[in-house]
This record gives sequence, structure tokens and C-alpha cells, in this order.
Amino acid sequence: MAKDIDWGSLGFSYMQTDYRYVSNYKDGKWDDGVLTEDSNVVINESAGVLQYAQTCFEGLKAYRTIDNKVVCFRPDMNAKRMADSAKRLEMAVFPEDRFVDAVVKVVKANLDYVPPYGSGATLYLRPYMFGSNAVIGVKPATEFQFRIFATPVGPYFKGGVKPITLRVPDFDRAAPRGTGHVKAGLNYAMSLHAIVDAHNQGYSENMYLDSATRTKVEETGGANIIFVTKDNTVVTPKSSTILPSITRRSLMYVAEKYLGLKAEEREVYIDEIKDFKECALCGTAAVLSPVGKIVDHDKTYCLPSGMEKSGEITQKLYDTLTGIQMGRLDAPEGWIKVIA
Ligand SMILES: *Cc1c(COP(=O)(O)O)cnc(C)c1O
Repeated sequence: MAKDIDWGSLGFSYMQTDYRYVSNYKDGKWDDGVLTEDSNVVINESAGVLQYAQTCFEGLKAYRTIDNKVVCFRPDMNAKRMADSAKRLEMAVFPEDRFVDAVVKVVKANLDYVPPYGSGATLYLRPYMFGSNAVIGVKPATEFQFRIFATPVGPYFKGGVKPITLRVPDFDRAAPRGTGHVKAGLNYAMSLHAIVDAHNQGYSENMYLDSATRTKVEETGGANIIFVTKDNTVVTPKSSTILPSITRRSLMYVAEKYLGLKAEEREVYIDEIKDFKECALCGTAAVLSPVGKIVDHDKTYCLPSGMEKSGEITQKLYDTLTGIQMGRLDAPEGWIKVIA
């Protein structure tokens, strides 16, 4: 029985659900893992995660489709990316097949929290892992905990599909040869000041530049960026310090294969923004959020698509991607994992 939740008014915030998955790594191996009703984590005061931020995470969603199935979108890609993050952070890798299996278990155990088709809400899944044993000298933990919890969410940006305004901050997100390409909590901790400052000044998000030259567009704190040129080419910045968004990679495929557009991943210079007609943020949480304006200090770029609605190509990409996720359109092989 679906829970008594006002699905339409959900924002992007945490709501406790019934079950979460936990597995522990100790003496060189992962235990079998269990579902638990206990939402609290108990760890040593000197756990690696608490002292040296040894933690990484993932984010994906479960959707109720038009024919009332419950599905996940490309969970194998999250499994792979988390393995990459764990390696970069000297953490034990949670096996990729077990990751997908744990996603399935958590969704099945919380099926009543999967919002109905058409409500605009989804069940957000948060896999994460952290160094759990005590360390005090700077070194990796030797014990780790892997968890997945679920929480129903509505849109990430308040106001639904109204275009948002970005600003170019005086802060950087990722250093060359650093950790910008892995989904580490540490990348977010250092972005919190920049996002609070952006909000205080009336902007929705920060658009970070490459920190080496500060001339090229990278991404926002939690979403990749796409642009559309005047001749309808979809362009996304290429950089080794951008987090490889699964949504962005999927949208580039959709642009080419479903919409017949050209899609390019290449370096994008900040002063090219004036040549684009649309811009949007993409990610599991943001889905595809239109950007109407980008402020770089004394320069303001107003995208021709304006501040009232999505640009035409952005809207087509959004409709196609969500159509695939909600079962209205045929998905490419392997993109949809049916859970129930
Ligand atoms: C998670 C994340 C994204 C979006 O990735 P998806 O796989 O599409 O959810 C983009 N940028 C950053 C910095 C992220 O952490």
C-alpha cells in the first residue's frame, strides 16, 4: 500500500523510509550485507571518515513507469563509478554486481515509498561508503561500511522548470589531477561556502571554471552543464576534473540517437557563452534544469531561451530522457533495470 504522502509537494529533502542496506568490510572482505530498520550509524570517534573525510557516494532514482512497473536507470553505471571513486580514495571496492543487487533489495523493501507515475516525485537512492575504523595518523582506514538508503524526493530546484541563474564564483571546485572526477564528499564540503554565498547573492548555483586557467566552463557544484548552439548542436564541456555525470552521458546519446542532433564533448570557453542559445544543468537530482542567465562578475549572459521556460532543445532532451525513464519510450539496451 502506497504511503500517505503528499507526493506532489515533496521537495528535495530527506525523509526516513523503512529499510536500508548495510555491508561491512573487515579483514580483507565484505560481509553478506543485510537490510535493517536502524537508520543510525555507530562508528568509532576516530573513524577515517570523521577525521580525514574518507567517503564517497552515489545517487540514482527508482521510477514508477506508465505501466506501473518500478525501475532504476543504469544502476550498473553508478556501481562502476563508485568503484572508481573508492580506488581513488584508497577504499575497498564494493563489488559492482553486489551494488546493483543491493539497489534492488532497498527498492523492493521500500516499494510503498516509490511515488506514483505522474506525480513528479521519485524514490532517490543514496549509496555511500566510508572508512569506519579508527585512524589517527594520516592513512587509509582498513575497515569500511557500505550503505544504501532511500528517500522520496520532488524537484531539486524550487519552482519546477523555471530557468535559473548561475554565477561564476571566485572559488574553484577541483584542482588538475585532484579529485574532481570522483564522487567524494570532500568535493562537496569545500563547495558549501560557495553555494551559501551564491544563494545569499540571489543565484541558484555556481558555475565553476577550470582552476588552472579560469577560462573554461566546468560544471556546477552538483550537476554537469550542457549548451545548445544556434545550429542545434548539443555541447558539453570536456575536462578531466568534471564528475562524469551519467545523466549527461545519457543525454548526449539521446541527442544523437533519438533526436538526430550533433553532440560534442569539447572544451568550452567562458566567452563562448554569448554564442549559445540554450543552457541547462543535468544530473540525477537536477534532471535537466534550464539556465536562463549566467553572471560572470561585470558580464551578464542572457540565454536567448529566456527566463520563462526551457529552450526548445532542452525541452526535447528532457521529454525524451524522462520518457525513457518512465517507460513512455523504448530504452537503449541495458538502460532500464526492472525491479518490480
Ligand atoms: C553526482 C554529480 C553529478 C551528476 O551525476 P549523475 O550521474 O548524472 O547523477 C554532476 N556533478 C557532480 C559534481 C556530481 O557530484
